[in-house]
Amino acid sequence: MQYVNLHNHTVYSDGKNTVRENVEAAIRLGMGAIGFSDHSYTAIDERYCMMPDQYEVYEREIRAIAAEYEDQIPVYLGIELDYFSDMPTFATDYIIASVHYIVKDGAVHAIDSSPEKQMRCFEESFGGDRLAMARAYYENLTAHVRRTKPTLVGHFDVITKFSLIPEDDARYRDLARDALTEVVKHCPYVEINTGAISRGWRTTPYPQSYLLSHLKEIGGRPVLGADSHSIQHLTFGYDEAVELLRSYGFPSIFAFGKGGYEEVKI
Ligand SMILES: [Zn+2]
Ligand SMILES: [Zn+2]
Repeated sequence: MQYVNLHNHTVYSDGKNTVRENVEAAIRLGMGAIGFSDHSYTAIDERYCMMPDQYEVYEREIRAIAAEYEDQIPVYLGIELDYFSDMPTFATDYIIASVHYIVKDGAVHAIDSSPEKQMRCFEESFGGDRLAMARAYYENLTAHVRRTKPTLVGHFDVITKFSLIPEDDARYRDLARDALTEVVKHCPYVEINTGAISRGWRTTPYPQSYLLSHLKEIGGRPVLGADSHSIQHLTFGYDEAVELLRSYGFPSIFAFGKGGYEEVKI
């Protein structure tokens, strides 16, 4: 199977490699297509994102490289749009909708950057209530997907990244399941994101496996995404993710192509 990955970061935001290095690595790997999804500008935290004046250069470089490599691999222009960002000021081929922050009473918490920061979030802003923090995360995500109508829902339950959420608690699972139902109503394409595996935080992709049967039941369409920040991880964990999806009875995955998503039997 020729793998596609729309979720890639480059030196334009917090990735290690250039656009060209990524495209050349994707060709070496025999990938079916590659897309770029650097972080949208977030005024609340400028550390990991593109700055607004980079948008034009980003767009121009990716379009130029797409034309240059057109005979070898399709290259798509996208963005990973944070909930706290404005819509991009340039035309993209796709948008990944993701939540990376919780803002409460003026405090900005980057919930997926380190365990310490996530701990500070629930201790300082939610009186130690981890479930309340998870609820706030899913409220942001469902509002984002409803408003943005993205091409893809990014790392659905990234709030579980550091294993600080009581995932065995039925109240948490209900919360996550309800959010998944709501999200899929507005965007059926949900990323099976292997990014936390390549960074050593988790051993399975997002959404966590207890949500996969629900995803299937409600007609969610799985799309593989590596959330790669270096060319070593362009299709990281894809074989295992496909195996996992098969074991939950998914007959196919969805791969982005020129005319939108194509169904690929697995
Ligand atoms: Zn993200
Ligand atoms: Zn990402």
